[in-house]
Amino acid sequence: MDYLPIFLNLQQRPVVVVGGGAVALRKVSTLRAAGAQVTVVAPALDLQLAAQAARGEVRHIAAPFIPAHLGDAVAVIAATDDIAVNRAVSRASRERGIPVNVVDDAELSTFIFPAIIDRSPIVVAVSSGGHAPVLARRIRAQIEALLPARLGALARFMGERRRALQRALAAPARREFWERIVSGPAASRVLAGDLPGAEHAYGRELLTSTLSGAVATGGNRLGEVYLIGAGPGDPDLLTLRALQLLQQADVVLYDRLVSPQVLERARRDAQRIFVGKEPGDSGRQEQIHELLLHHALAGKRVARLKGGDPFVFGRGGEELEALARHDIPCTIVPGITAALGAAAAAALPLTHRRFAHSVTFVNGHQGEEDEACDWDFCADPRRTIVFYMGLGHLEDILKRLRAAGASAEHPAAVIARATLPDQQIVRGTLADILARVRELAVAPPALLIVGNVAAFTADATGCISAAFVPSGVADFTTPARPAAVAAGALT
Ligand code: SAH
Repeated sequence: MDYLPIFLNLQQRPVVVVGGGAVALRKVSTLRAAGAQVTVVAPALDLQLAAQAARGEVRHIAAPFIPAHLGDAVAVIAATDDIAVNRAVSRASRERGIPVNVVDDAELSTFIFPAIIDRSPIVVAVSSGGHAPVLARRIRAQIEALLPARLGALARFMGERRRALQRALAAPARREFWERIVSGPAASRVLAGDLPGAEHAYGRELLTSTLSGAVATGGNRLGEVYLIGAGPGDPDLLTLRALQLLQQADVVLYDRLVSPQVLERARRDAQRIFVGKEPGDSGRQEQIHELLLHHALAGKRVARLKGGDPFVFGRGGEELEALARHDIPCTIVPGITAALGAAAAAALPLTHRRFAHSVTFVNGHQGEEDEACDWDFCADPRRTIVFYMGLGHLEDILKRLRAAGASAEHPAAVIARATLPDQQIVRGTLADILARVRELAVAPPALLIVGNVAAFTADATGCISAAFVPSGVADFTTPARPAAVAAGALT
């Protein structure tokens, strides 16, 4: 190691920062976050630093640096753009044996600042030893994405219970107990912001552990379920929480809509179980409930991965009910529903204020169990209507819309396998979309979007060039491309 990583207690300790510009301001903020008493030495101050000095939050010495300014400082930072001053600060500090950091100058420094992830009291520091600060920052960002935002809350939750636990459990059982807490429902509940739920799960773990004296390994631990929306297919559209939970689940139940690319993000050694429902396969839902219960009751962390959002035509509600009946803790993670993924991929602003005043998600599969659709409502082109599960019934849906008074020119778009590499976008009108879809042999899963916005195109400057385009003008099929690019320019 070129440097030893240590964590310095600076609470109420004097630290001197030489320099009064933007760089000094950043260092002062970090030092103050760690509780240091900061003195800034600089003839002139940046506006924000001046304000802090005026409020008495930092002490300001308005003079060029002299060694006497160092006083009893426990650390010194030189953040000026004058190499001679930085050198003088470095030399004076070394002579007095005070650790010194000269910003961006490892040679003049005796310590360096790492890139920091602050989830206090958990703090992660990354350093490249001054070789590649940009790389260190990149690594920090990658770690940051993996760490739940409420990690600090979890550390505090555990810290507050340490004393009491020492009295409740003997030493060897304690460690096992904490292992269970961090990898079980109590932690998931804290990380999801549900403190009462966390308290409840903690109480249950504690009861099991004290009853069994020493903690039995594996067997009677508390299982839990993560009901995760996997988004429309592109793994980059998973939420951070979905990723975090996928990486700790022991068992993953997934269905047909979950792309292999998403599944790859699960823990390598997790058991993967396909529970895909083919259309018309109705008895399956009960079996899924049984599988969920079976694994959760066996103490497993079960990720139930569902395409899009678990609660949009996803039967997540029924799974939740089944879990609640057995008091199994469940964490729900929302996902990007197919309509939103498809709209972004096709650059269709679902509620563009000039063309639509609402958006409605409709079950396009008008089976016996489904509510009858309000076709008059759907036939108004100022309403954006998104039909899920409608590809097989496309002809019927189009007929019904026409019968309810929608014009032949009413814009329509079909977006298949949105956000996946083989995505297809077909645009047209109620009169011709069916023929186009057949001609291109569009395959499911696909959405039908009808309404004025289905004809939306923006030119290269992002201006709208057409709202209601006559048939034949605005149709095209495009290869998949990143949503951000698609959102930029379409012609
Ligand atoms: N819970 C899911 C929807 C499940 S219903 C969600 O929130 O998206 C299944 C229907 O979703 C499919 O029939 C299709 O209409 C739509 N769908 C799912 N993924 C899709 C995708 N990548 N592209 C287009 N439509 C999709």
